Formats: sequence, structure tokens, C-alpha cells
Amino acid sequence: MNLELMGRQLRGKVRRFFQAKVLEQDTEALLARRRGDCNRCGACCKILFRCPFLGTDAEGQYTCQIYEKRFAQCRLYPLHSQDLLEVKECSYTFEPDPTPAHLNTGPAAASD
Ligand code: SF4
Repeated sequence: MNLELMGRQLRGKVRRFFQAKVLEQDTEALLARRRGDCNRCGACCKILFRCPFLGTDAEGQYTCQIYEKRFAQCRLYPLHSQDLLEVKECSYTFEPDPTPAHLNTGPAAASD
């Protein structure tokens, strides 16, 4: 596995953990921009390591063995479009950021 991908995955896991467990951030607005459905490919359950709760059902489809009690950070994958870069495939997509560029007051805009 390449180091760039591993670094991205590690940052994503840590960020989702903090957003879910430490900040208890309101993620409703972010999740509202998510489109599609999970195709149960299992890719997000193998980020950095294979989750020990990842199993397969009778049809060989991936399934979470603790789905109803799964960790908060698992419910948040994917939360941002950048999260999709942590796996080879994911059936979710995201609506573009609705903030018009001229309203962006971030550091890059301030230095112009
Ligand atoms: S990578 Fe996406 S499509 Fe695959 S199991 Fe995770 S959320 Fe579902």
C-alpha cells in the first residue's frame, strides 16, 4: 500500500472519530449533501485494517456483525467528498459545496 493513501486514510479515520466522539459535531448538514446508497462493497470497513466485525451473509455479501450498535464514526463514512479518496470505490457521491466562491472568506481568499 502506498504511503500517501495510508496517510489520507489515517487522517480520515482520526477526523471522523473526533467529529463523532469528541466534538459530537452536528453532521446533519454534511450528510444531507450525500447522495446514493451503500452497495455493501465493504471497502470502508477495510480502511487501514479489516474491521473484525466485518462478516459475510449467506449470499456472500459483506455485512456488519454489529450493525445496529456500530461505532459512531462508522455511521459517518463517507461524510465529505474527500472521504471517497480513501477507498477504490464507493457508491456514494456528494452534492457540490453550495457556498459561492465570492462568499468564501477562507485564508486563500483573504490573501488575494
Ligand atoms: S465504501 Fe461506500 S459503498 Fe462500500 S461499504 Fe463503504 S459506504 Fe458502502
